[in-house]
Amino acid sequence: MNHADNKPEIGLDPENWDDFKTLGHQLIDDMVEYLKNIGDGPAWQPIPQEVKEEFQKAVPHQPANIFEIYDEFKKNIMPYHGGNIHPAYYAWVQGTGTPMGAFADLLAGIMNANVTIGDQSAMYVDKQVINWCKQLMNYPAEGSGMLVSGGSIANITALIVARNTVIANCKTKGVYVAEGKLTAYCSSETHNCVNKAAEVIGIGSEQLRKIPVNENFEIDVDALEASLRDDKTNGLVPFCIIGNAGTVNTGAIDPLDKLLAIARNENIWLHIDGAFGALAKLVPAYSEKLKAIEQADSVAFDLHKWMYMQYEVGCVLFKDAATHRAAFANAVNYLTAHDRGIAGGPETLSNYGMELSRGFKALKVWMSLKEHGVDKYAAMIAQNIDQAFYLGEQVKQHPELELLAAVNMNVACYRYNPGNLDNDQLNILNKELLMRMQERGIAVPSNTLQHGKYAIRAAITNHRTRRMHLDQMVAATIEIGRELIKEHEAKLFKFDFLTSK
Ligand SMILES: *Cc1c(COP(=O)(O)O)cnc(C)c1O
Repeated sequence: MNHADNKPEIGLDPENWDDFKTLGHQLIDDMVEYLKNIGDGPAWQPIPQEVKEEFQKAVPHQPANIFEIYDEFKKNIMPYHGGNIHPAYYAWVQGTGTPMGAFADLLAGIMNANVTIGDQSAMYVDKQVINWCKQLMNYPAEGSGMLVSGGSIANITALIVARNTVIANCKTKGVYVAEGKLTAYCSSETHNCVNKAAEVIGIGSEQLRKIPVNENFEIDVDALEASLRDDKTNGLVPFCIIGNAGTVNTGAIDPLDKLLAIARNENIWLHIDGAFGALAKLVPAYSEKLKAIEQADSVAFDLHKWMYMQYEVGCVLFKDAATHRAAFANAVNYLTAHDRGIAGGPETLSNYGMELSRGFKALKVWMSLKEHGVDKYAAMIAQNIDQAFYLGEQVKQHPELELLAAVNMNVACYRYNPGNLDNDQLNILNKELLMRMQERGIAVPSNTLQHGKYAIRAAITNHRTRRMHLDQMVAATIEIGRELIKEHEAKLFKFDFLTSK
Protein backbone atom coordinates (compact mmCIF):
# COMPACT_ATOMS: atom_id res chain seq x y z
CA MET A 1 0.00 0.00 0.00
CA ASN A 2 1.30 3.43 -0.94
CA HIS A 3 0.82 5.91 1.93
CA ALA A 4 1.77 8.91 -0.11
CA ASP A 5 -0.45 8.63 -3.18
CA ASN A 6 -2.55 11.51 -4.40
CA LYS A 7 -5.80 10.37 -2.85
CA PRO A 8 -7.81 13.39 -1.65
CA GLU A 9 -7.58 13.67 2.12
CA ILE A 10 -10.64 13.67 4.28
CA GLY A 11 -11.79 15.01 7.65
CA LEU A 12 -14.90 15.01 9.83
CA ASP A 13 -15.76 18.70 9.85
CA PRO A 14 -19.03 19.73 8.14
CA GLU A 15 -18.87 19.73 4.36
CA ASN A 16 -20.87 22.92 4.46
CA TRP A 17 -20.21 25.17 7.43
CA ASP A 18 -23.20 27.38 6.54
CA ASP A 19 -25.52 24.39 6.83
CA PHE A 20 -23.92 23.56 10.13
CA LYS A 21 -24.53 27.08 11.38
CA THR A 22 -28.16 26.95 10.19
CA LEU A 23 -28.65 23.69 12.08
CA GLY A 24 -26.99 25.17 15.16
CA HIS A 25 -29.34 28.17 15.16
CA GLN A 26 -32.31 25.92 14.55
CA LEU A 27 -31.52 23.55 17.36
CA ILE A 28 -30.86 26.32 19.85
CA ASP A 29 -34.20 27.90 18.89
CA ASP A 30 -36.04 24.59 19.18
CA MET A 31 -34.45 23.50 22.43
CA VAL A 32 -34.89 26.83 24.16
CA GLU A 33 -38.62 26.72 23.27
CA TYR A 34 -38.79 23.10 24.38
CA LEU A 35 -37.30 23.82 27.78
CA LYS A 36 -39.36 26.97 28.23
CA ASN A 37 -42.57 24.97 27.78
CA ILE A 38 -41.44 21.69 29.31
CA GLY A 39 -44.16 21.78 31.98
CA ASP A 40 -46.92 21.77 29.36
CA GLY A 41 -46.04 18.29 28.14
CA PRO A 42 -46.38 14.98 29.99
CA ALA A 43 -43.97 14.41 32.87
CA TRP A 44 -43.11 11.11 31.18
CA GLN A 45 -44.49 9.01 28.35
CA PRO A 46 -43.94 5.38 27.44
CA ILE A 47 -41.74 4.79 24.37
CA PRO A 48 -43.83 3.28 21.55
CA GLN A 49 -42.69 -0.10 20.28
CA GLU A 50 -41.89 1.22 16.79
CA VAL A 51 -39.59 3.83 18.31
CA LYS A 52 -37.82 1.18 20.37
CA GLU A 53 -37.31 -0.78 17.16
CA GLU A 54 -35.45 2.18 15.68
CA PHE A 55 -32.81 1.55 18.30
CA GLN A 56 -32.26 -2.01 17.10
CA LYS A 57 -30.92 -0.96 13.71
CA ALA A 58 -27.34 -1.83 12.78
CA VAL A 59 -24.44 0.59 12.68
CA PRO A 60 -24.65 2.91 9.64
CA HIS A 61 -21.88 2.64 7.06
CA GLN A 62 -22.87 5.57 4.91
CA PRO A 63 -23.18 9.26 5.84
CA ALA A 64 -26.54 10.86 6.57
CA ASN A 65 -27.62 14.45 6.24
CA ILE A 66 -27.19 16.44 9.47
CA PHE A 67 -30.70 17.92 9.23
CA GLU A 68 -32.18 14.44 8.94
CA ILE A 69 -30.20 13.23 11.93
CA TYR A 70 -31.51 16.15 13.94
CA ASP A 71 -35.09 15.44 12.80
CA GLU A 72 -34.69 11.86 13.94
CA PHE A 73 -33.48 13.10 17.31
CA LYS A 74 -36.55 15.34 17.63
CA LYS A 75 -38.90 12.54 16.59
CA ASN A 76 -37.51 9.51 18.41
CA ILE A 77 -35.28 10.68 21.22
CA MET A 78 -36.23 14.05 22.66
CA PRO A 79 -39.92 13.30 23.42
CA TYR A 80 -39.05 10.19 25.41
CA HIS A 81 -36.78 11.85 27.97
CA GLY A 82 -36.70 10.32 31.43
CA GLY A 83 -38.85 13.05 32.96
CA ASN A 84 -36.27 14.69 35.18
CA ILE A 85 -36.32 17.93 33.18
CA HIS A 86 -40.07 18.20 33.95
CA PRO A 87 -41.41 20.06 37.00
CA ALA A 88 -43.48 17.05 38.16
CA TYR A 89 -40.56 14.62 38.43
CA TYR A 90 -39.49 13.30 41.83
CA ALA A 91 -38.28 9.76 41.08
CA TRP A 92 -35.11 8.25 42.60
CA VAL A 93 -32.87 11.26 43.21
CA GLN A 94 -32.34 13.05 39.94
CA GLY A 95 -31.38 16.58 39.13
CA THR A 96 -33.10 18.82 36.62
CA GLY A 97 -30.19 20.45 34.83
CA THR A 98 -30.39 24.08 33.73
CA PRO A 99 -30.50 25.81 30.34
CA MET A 100 -27.14 27.49 30.99
CA GLY A 101 -25.71 24.14 32.08
CA ALA A 102 -26.66 22.75 28.68
CA PHE A 103 -24.84 25.63 26.97
CA ALA A 104 -21.81 24.94 29.15
CA ASP A 105 -21.80 21.32 27.98
CA LEU A 106 -22.02 22.52 24.38
CA LEU A 107 -19.08 24.86 24.91
CA ALA A 108 -17.12 22.14 26.72
CA GLY A 109 -17.80 19.92 23.74
CA ILE A 110 -16.44 22.53 21.38
CA MET A 111 -13.23 22.93 23.39
CA ASN A 112 -13.15 19.15 23.82
CA ALA A 113 -10.63 19.58 26.60
CA ASN A 114 -9.10 16.44 28.03
CA VAL A 115 -8.89 17.67 31.60
CA THR A 116 -6.12 15.45 32.84
CA ILE A 117 -2.88 17.11 31.85
CA GLY A 118 -1.36 20.12 30.14
CA ASP A 119 -1.09 23.85 30.55
CA GLN A 120 -4.62 24.59 29.37
CA SER A 121 -7.36 26.75 30.86
CA ALA A 122 -9.62 23.81 31.65
CA MET A 123 -7.11 22.43 34.17
CA TYR A 124 -7.27 25.70 36.10
CA VAL A 125 -11.07 25.85 35.92
CA ASP A 126 -11.20 22.30 37.29
CA LYS A 127 -8.91 23.28 40.16
CA GLN A 128 -10.96 26.38 40.90
CA VAL A 129 -14.17 24.36 40.93
CA ILE A 130 -12.65 21.90 43.43
CA ASN A 131 -11.77 24.87 45.62
CA TRP A 132 -15.33 26.12 45.30
CA CYS A 133 -16.62 22.68 46.27
CA LYS A 134 -14.47 22.81 49.41
CA GLN A 135 -15.95 26.21 50.18
CA LEU A 136 -19.49 24.88 49.70
CA MET A 137 -18.79 22.21 52.33
CA ASN A 138 -16.77 24.56 54.55
CA TYR A 139 -14.01 22.02 54.10
CA PRO A 140 -10.38 22.92 54.88
CA ALA A 141 -8.70 24.82 52.03
CA GLU A 142 -5.64 22.54 52.16
CA GLY A 143 -7.81 19.53 51.40
CA SER A 144 -7.98 18.09 47.90
CA GLY A 145 -10.69 16.71 45.70
CA MET A 146 -11.74 15.37 42.35
CA LEU A 147 -14.65 15.83 40.01
CA VAL A 148 -15.93 12.43 38.95
CA SER A 149 -18.91 11.07 37.08
CA GLY A 150 -21.07 10.82 40.20
CA GLY A 151 -21.61 9.66 43.74
CA SER A 152 -20.85 6.02 42.98
CA ILE A 153 -17.34 6.72 41.72
CA ALA A 154 -16.86 9.39 44.38
CA ASN A 155 -17.59 6.80 47.09
CA ILE A 156 -15.31 4.21 45.49
CA THR A 157 -12.53 6.77 45.16
CA ALA A 158 -12.89 7.65 48.84
CA LEU A 159 -12.79 4.02 49.96
CA ILE A 160 -9.66 3.34 47.91
CA VAL A 161 -7.90 6.21 49.68
CA ALA A 162 -9.27 5.08 53.06
CA ARG A 163 -8.01 1.55 52.54
CA ASN A 164 -4.56 2.61 51.29
CA THR A 165 -4.14 5.17 54.07
CA VAL A 166 -5.26 3.10 57.03
CA ILE A 167 -3.49 -0.08 55.88
CA ALA A 168 0.19 0.57 55.21
CA ASN A 169 1.55 -0.90 51.95
CA CYS A 170 -1.93 -1.93 50.81
CA LYS A 171 -1.42 -0.07 47.54
CA THR A 172 1.45 -2.30 46.43
CA LYS A 173 0.86 -5.51 48.35
CA GLY A 174 -2.93 -5.62 48.29
CA VAL A 175 -5.41 -6.27 51.08
CA TYR A 176 -3.38 -9.34 52.09
CA VAL A 177 -1.01 -7.18 54.17
CA ALA A 178 -3.73 -6.48 56.73
CA GLU A 179 -3.50 -8.51 59.90
CA GLY A 180 -7.06 -9.69 59.47
CA LYS A 181 -9.99 -9.16 57.17
CA LEU A 182 -10.53 -5.48 56.44
CA THR A 183 -13.97 -4.41 57.60
CA ALA A 184 -16.06 -1.30 56.96
CA TYR A 185 -19.27 -0.11 58.65
CA CYS A 186 -22.38 1.67 57.48
CA SER A 187 -26.11 1.65 58.13
CA SER A 188 -28.48 -0.79 56.47
CA GLU A 189 -29.98 2.22 54.62
CA THR A 190 -26.69 2.98 52.85
CA HIS A 191 -26.76 3.26 49.07
CA ASN A 192 -25.94 0.15 47.05
CA CYS A 193 -22.93 1.85 45.46
CA VAL A 194 -21.10 1.56 48.79
CA ASN A 195 -21.70 -2.17 48.57
CA LYS A 196 -20.18 -2.15 45.11
CA ALA A 197 -17.28 -0.10 46.45
CA ALA A 198 -16.61 -2.80 49.07
CA GLU A 199 -16.64 -5.36 46.27
CA VAL A 200 -14.25 -3.50 43.97
CA ILE A 201 -11.72 -2.48 46.62
CA GLY A 202 -11.23 -6.13 47.41
CA ILE A 203 -12.63 -6.39 50.93
CA GLY A 204 -15.82 -8.05 49.71
CA SER A 205 -19.35 -6.96 50.49
CA GLU A 206 -19.56 -9.43 53.39
CA GLN A 207 -16.98 -7.30 55.14
CA LEU A 208 -19.23 -4.26 54.86
CA ARG A 209 -21.23 -4.38 58.09
CA LYS A 210 -24.80 -3.15 57.57
CA ILE A 211 -25.65 -1.79 60.99
CA PRO A 212 -29.39 -1.61 61.81
CA VAL A 213 -31.20 1.73 61.91
CA ASN A 214 -33.54 3.32 64.43
CA GLU A 215 -37.14 4.34 63.69
CA ASN A 216 -35.85 7.44 61.90
CA PHE A 217 -33.72 5.28 59.60
CA GLU A 218 -30.49 6.57 61.20
CA ILE A 219 -27.63 4.23 62.11
CA ASP A 220 -27.94 2.65 65.57
CA VAL A 221 -24.74 3.88 67.20
CA ASP A 222 -24.81 1.31 70.01
CA ALA A 223 -25.09 -1.50 67.49
CA LEU A 224 -22.19 0.01 65.53
CA GLU A 225 -20.00 0.06 68.63
CA ALA A 226 -20.95 -3.51 69.49
CA SER A 227 -20.13 -4.64 65.97
CA LEU A 228 -16.73 -2.92 66.08
CA ARG A 229 -15.99 -4.59 69.43
CA ASP A 230 -17.00 -8.04 68.22
CA ASP A 231 -15.03 -7.75 65.01
CA LYS A 232 -11.87 -6.67 66.79
CA THR A 233 -12.25 -9.51 69.30
CA ASN A 234 -12.49 -11.87 66.35
CA GLY A 235 -9.30 -10.56 64.77
CA LEU A 236 -10.89 -8.48 62.02
CA VAL A 237 -9.43 -5.10 61.05
CA PRO A 238 -11.93 -2.24 60.96
CA PHE A 239 -10.68 0.57 58.72
CA CYS A 240 -13.61 2.76 57.76
CA ILE A 241 -17.02 4.02 58.82
CA ILE A 242 -19.34 5.36 56.13
CA GLY A 243 -21.92 7.82 57.39
CA ASN A 244 -24.97 8.97 55.48
CA ALA A 245 -25.83 12.61 54.95
CA GLY A 246 -29.23 11.90 53.40
CA THR A 247 -30.11 8.28 52.71
CA VAL A 248 -31.61 7.45 49.37
CA ASN A 249 -34.83 6.01 50.82
CA THR A 250 -35.86 8.68 53.27
CA GLY A 251 -33.18 11.36 53.36
CA ALA A 252 -32.13 10.28 56.87
CA ILE A 253 -28.97 11.87 58.25
CA ASP A 254 -26.88 9.60 60.49
CA PRO A 255 -25.59 11.15 63.75
CA LEU A 256 -22.40 12.23 62.01
CA ASP A 257 -20.80 13.81 65.07
CA LYS A 258 -21.07 10.50 66.91
CA LEU A 259 -19.64 8.60 63.94
CA LEU A 260 -16.77 11.08 63.87
CA ALA A 261 -16.03 10.53 67.57
CA ILE A 262 -16.08 6.74 67.10
CA ALA A 263 -13.81 6.90 64.05
CA ARG A 264 -11.32 9.12 65.89
CA ASN A 265 -11.42 6.84 68.89
CA GLU A 266 -10.79 3.76 66.75
CA ASN A 267 -8.22 5.56 64.63
CA ILE A 268 -10.07 4.68 61.44
CA TRP A 269 -11.40 6.61 58.45
CA LEU A 270 -14.71 8.47 58.40
CA HIS A 271 -16.21 8.84 54.95
CA ILE A 272 -19.55 10.52 54.38
CA ASP A 273 -21.86 9.69 51.51
CA GLY A 274 -23.68 12.97 51.05
CA ALA A 275 -24.70 12.34 47.45
CA PHE A 276 -27.58 14.78 47.70
CA GLY A 277 -27.97 15.48 51.43
CA ALA A 278 -24.55 17.07 51.90
CA LEU A 279 -25.79 20.06 49.90
CA ALA A 280 -28.38 20.79 52.60
CA LYS A 281 -25.36 22.13 54.46
CA LEU A 282 -26.01 25.34 52.54
CA VAL A 283 -29.33 25.71 54.37
CA PRO A 284 -28.90 27.21 57.88
CA ALA A 285 -31.46 24.85 59.46
CA TYR A 286 -29.34 21.85 58.39
CA SER A 287 -25.81 23.20 58.68
CA GLU A 288 -25.41 22.19 62.34
CA LYS A 289 -26.63 18.64 61.71
CA LEU A 290 -24.14 18.32 58.86
CA LYS A 291 -21.27 20.11 60.57
CA ALA A 292 -19.24 16.91 61.03
CA ILE A 293 -18.73 16.80 57.26
CA GLU A 294 -16.10 19.49 57.80
CA GLN A 295 -14.09 17.05 59.96
CA ALA A 296 -14.64 13.87 57.96
CA ASP A 297 -11.65 12.34 56.19
CA SER A 298 -13.62 12.37 52.96
CA VAL A 299 -17.04 13.31 51.65
CA ALA A 300 -18.81 12.42 48.41
CA PHE A 301 -21.57 14.51 46.87
CA ASP A 302 -23.20 15.04 43.52
CA LEU A 303 -23.52 18.29 41.65
CA HIS A 304 -25.91 16.67 39.18
CA LYS A 305 -28.49 15.97 41.89
CA TRP A 306 -29.16 18.74 44.35
CA MET A 307 -27.10 21.38 42.56
CA TYR A 308 -29.30 20.81 39.50
CA MET A 309 -26.34 20.56 37.12
CA GLN A 310 -26.21 18.52 33.93
CA TYR A 311 -25.17 14.87 34.11
CA GLU A 312 -22.55 13.80 34.88
CA VAL A 313 -20.74 15.51 37.69
CA GLY A 314 -20.01 14.41 41.23
CA CYS A 315 -17.30 15.40 43.66
CA VAL A 316 -15.16 13.75 46.32
CA LEU A 317 -13.16 15.78 48.81
CA PHE A 318 -10.29 14.68 51.04
CA LYS A 319 -9.04 16.28 54.21
CA ASP A 320 -5.47 15.24 53.52
CA ALA A 321 -4.21 15.96 50.01
CA ALA A 322 -1.03 13.94 50.53
CA THR A 323 -2.75 10.63 51.30
CA HIS A 324 -5.26 11.30 48.50
CA ARG A 325 -2.37 11.70 46.08
CA ALA A 326 -0.40 8.77 47.49
CA ALA A 327 -3.31 6.43 46.77
CA PHE A 328 -3.25 7.11 43.02
CA ALA A 329 0.06 8.70 42.04
CA ASN A 330 2.38 6.71 39.83
CA ALA A 331 5.54 7.87 38.13
CA VAL A 332 4.79 7.43 34.43
CA ASN A 333 7.38 8.73 32.00
CA TYR A 334 4.92 9.99 29.37
CA LEU A 335 3.14 12.12 31.97
CA THR A 336 6.12 13.97 33.45
CA ALA A 337 5.84 17.75 33.77
CA HIS A 338 8.15 20.14 31.93
CA ASP A 339 9.25 23.70 32.73
CA ARG A 340 7.50 25.16 29.73
CA GLY A 341 5.31 24.16 26.82
CA ILE A 342 2.05 22.20 27.01
CA ALA A 343 3.52 19.81 29.61
CA GLY A 344 4.41 22.80 31.81
CA GLY A 345 0.94 22.84 33.34
CA PRO A 346 -0.36 21.60 36.67
CA GLU A 347 0.38 18.06 37.87
CA THR A 348 -1.58 15.44 35.99
CA LEU A 349 -4.95 14.77 37.58
CA SER A 350 -4.47 11.08 36.97
CA ASN A 351 -2.47 11.20 40.21
CA TYR A 352 -5.75 11.87 42.06
CA GLY A 353 -8.15 9.27 40.73
CA MET A 354 -8.68 6.25 38.51
CA GLU A 355 -9.37 8.14 35.30
CA LEU A 356 -6.81 9.37 32.81
CA SER A 357 -8.90 11.00 30.06
CA ARG A 358 -11.54 13.26 31.58
CA GLY A 359 -14.08 15.62 30.06
CA PHE A 360 -14.54 19.26 30.95
CA LYS A 361 -17.34 18.75 33.47
CA ALA A 362 -15.93 21.58 35.52
CA LEU A 363 -17.19 24.13 32.99
CA LYS A 364 -20.88 23.64 33.76
CA VAL A 365 -20.13 23.87 37.47
CA TRP A 366 -18.11 27.02 36.95
CA MET A 367 -20.71 28.69 34.73
CA SER A 368 -23.67 27.63 36.88
CA LEU A 369 -22.14 28.86 40.13
CA LYS A 370 -21.34 32.16 38.42
CA GLU A 371 -24.78 32.45 36.88
CA HIS A 372 -26.71 31.92 40.12
CA GLY A 373 -24.30 32.31 43.03
CA VAL A 374 -24.25 30.03 46.06
CA ASP A 375 -26.99 31.95 47.88
CA LYS A 376 -29.48 31.18 45.12
CA TYR A 377 -28.65 27.48 45.38
CA ALA A 378 -29.10 27.61 49.15
CA ALA A 379 -32.55 29.19 48.67
CA MET A 380 -33.40 26.66 45.97
CA ILE A 381 -32.47 23.70 48.18
CA ALA A 382 -34.44 25.23 51.07
CA GLN A 383 -37.44 25.55 48.72
CA ASN A 384 -37.26 21.84 47.82
CA ILE A 385 -37.16 20.97 51.53
CA ASP A 386 -40.20 23.21 52.17
CA GLN A 387 -41.97 21.50 49.28
CA ALA A 388 -41.35 18.02 50.74
CA PHE A 389 -42.75 19.16 54.10
CA TYR A 390 -45.69 20.73 52.26
CA LEU A 391 -46.32 17.44 50.47
CA GLY A 392 -46.15 15.61 53.80
CA GLU A 393 -48.76 18.01 55.20
CA GLN A 394 -51.10 17.55 52.23
CA VAL A 395 -50.82 13.78 52.66
CA LYS A 396 -51.53 13.97 56.39
CA GLN A 397 -54.59 16.12 55.82
CA HIS A 398 -56.27 13.59 53.56
CA PRO A 399 -57.91 10.60 55.26
CA GLU A 400 -57.33 8.31 52.26
CA LEU A 401 -53.57 8.96 52.28
CA GLU A 402 -50.96 7.74 54.72
CA LEU A 403 -47.56 9.29 55.28
CA LEU A 404 -45.13 6.40 55.77
CA ALA A 405 -42.16 8.22 57.30
CA ALA A 406 -41.85 11.62 58.90
CA VAL A 407 -40.44 14.09 56.40
CA ASN A 408 -37.04 15.27 57.59
CA MET A 409 -35.58 16.82 54.45
CA ASN A 410 -36.58 16.61 50.79
CA VAL A 411 -38.06 13.11 50.64
CA ALA A 412 -41.71 12.21 51.33
CA CYS A 413 -43.03 8.64 51.24
CA TYR A 414 -46.73 7.93 51.31
CA ARG A 415 -49.42 5.56 50.05
CA TYR A 416 -53.09 5.48 49.20
CA ASN A 417 -54.82 3.76 52.09
CA PRO A 418 -58.61 3.87 52.23
CA GLY A 419 -58.51 1.93 55.50
CA ASN A 420 -60.17 -1.37 54.70
CA LEU A 421 -57.32 -3.24 52.98
CA ASP A 422 -54.48 -5.24 54.45
CA ASN A 423 -50.82 -4.52 53.75
CA ASP A 424 -50.45 -6.99 50.86
CA GLN A 425 -53.47 -5.50 49.16
CA LEU A 426 -52.21 -1.98 49.72
CA ASN A 427 -48.85 -2.92 48.22
CA ILE A 428 -50.48 -4.19 45.03
CA LEU A 429 -52.87 -1.29 44.80
CA ASN A 430 -50.21 1.36 45.26
CA LYS A 431 -47.89 -0.22 42.72
CA GLU A 432 -50.66 -0.15 40.08
CA LEU A 433 -51.56 3.38 41.14
CA LEU A 434 -47.99 4.58 40.72
CA MET A 435 -47.65 3.05 37.25
CA ARG A 436 -50.91 4.65 36.09
CA MET A 437 -49.87 8.04 37.43
CA GLN A 438 -46.60 7.81 35.51
CA GLU A 439 -48.19 6.50 32.31
CA ARG A 440 -50.67 9.35 32.32
CA GLY A 441 -47.77 11.76 32.55
CA ILE A 442 -49.23 13.45 35.63
CA ALA A 443 -46.24 13.10 37.92
CA VAL A 444 -43.22 10.84 38.27
CA PRO A 445 -42.51 9.81 41.84
CA SER A 446 -40.75 6.46 42.32
CA ASN A 447 -41.27 3.67 44.82
CA THR A 448 -39.60 2.00 47.74
CA LEU A 449 -40.46 -0.49 50.47
CA GLN A 450 -40.54 0.80 54.02
CA HIS A 451 -40.85 -1.88 56.69
CA GLY A 452 -42.65 -3.99 54.09
CA LYS A 453 -44.96 -1.19 53.00
CA TYR A 454 -44.92 -0.19 49.33
CA ALA A 455 -44.36 3.54 49.30
CA ILE A 456 -44.88 6.19 46.66
CA ARG A 457 -41.70 8.16 47.12
CA ALA A 458 -41.03 11.74 46.09
CA ALA A 459 -37.46 13.00 46.39
CA ILE A 460 -37.53 16.63 45.38
CA THR A 461 -34.28 17.85 43.82
CA ASN A 462 -36.10 19.74 41.08
CA HIS A 463 -35.79 23.50 40.59
CA ARG A 464 -38.85 23.57 38.31
CA THR A 465 -41.28 22.07 40.83
CA ARG A 466 -43.91 24.36 42.31
CA ARG A 467 -46.41 23.51 45.09
CA MET A 468 -49.09 23.33 42.40
CA HIS A 469 -47.36 20.27 40.89
CA LEU A 470 -47.38 18.52 44.25
CA ASP A 471 -51.08 19.36 44.66
CA GLN A 472 -51.68 17.72 41.28
CA MET A 473 -49.85 14.57 42.38
CA VAL A 474 -51.84 14.34 45.61
CA ALA A 475 -55.12 14.84 43.72
CA ALA A 476 -54.12 12.21 41.16
CA THR A 477 -53.20 9.74 43.91
CA ILE A 478 -56.66 10.02 45.40
CA GLU A 479 -58.40 9.92 42.03
CA ILE A 480 -56.52 6.86 40.77
CA GLY A 481 -56.82 5.17 44.17
CA ARG A 482 -60.60 5.54 44.07
CA GLU A 483 -60.67 4.42 40.46
CA LEU A 484 -58.79 1.23 41.37
CA ILE A 485 -61.12 0.49 44.25
CA LYS A 486 -64.11 0.91 41.88
CA GLU A 487 -62.53 -1.33 39.28
CA HIS A 488 -61.87 -3.92 41.92
CA GLU A 489 -65.44 -3.76 43.16
CA ALA A 490 -66.66 -4.12 39.58
CA LYS A 491 -64.14 -6.98 39.19
CA LEU A 492 -62.55 -5.13 36.29
CA PHE A 493 -59.15 -4.86 37.74
CA LYS A 494 -57.92 -7.99 39.43
CA PHE A 495 -55.77 -7.61 42.49
CA ASP A 496 -54.71 -11.18 43.19
CA PHE A 497 -54.72 -10.59 46.91
CA LEU A 498 -57.89 -8.54 46.89
CA THR A 499 -59.94 -11.06 45.00
CA SER A 500 -58.74 -13.96 47.11
CA LYS A 501 -60.14 -12.41 50.30
C1 LIG B 1 -27.54 8.81 43.98
C2 LIG B 1 -26.84 8.35 45.20
C3 LIG B 1 -25.60 7.72 45.11
C4 LIG B 1 -24.96 7.39 43.78
O1 LIG B 1 -24.63 8.56 43.08
P1 LIG B 1 -24.55 8.55 41.47
O2 LIG B 1 -24.27 9.97 41.14
O3 LIG B 1 -25.89 8.12 40.99
O4 LIG B 1 -23.48 7.62 41.09
C5 LIG B 1 -24.97 7.37 46.28
N1 LIG B 1 -25.54 7.62 47.48
C6 LIG B 1 -26.73 8.22 47.60
C7 LIG B 1 -27.28 8.48 48.96
C8 LIG B 1 -27.42 8.61 46.46
O5 LIG B 1 -28.61 9.22 46.58
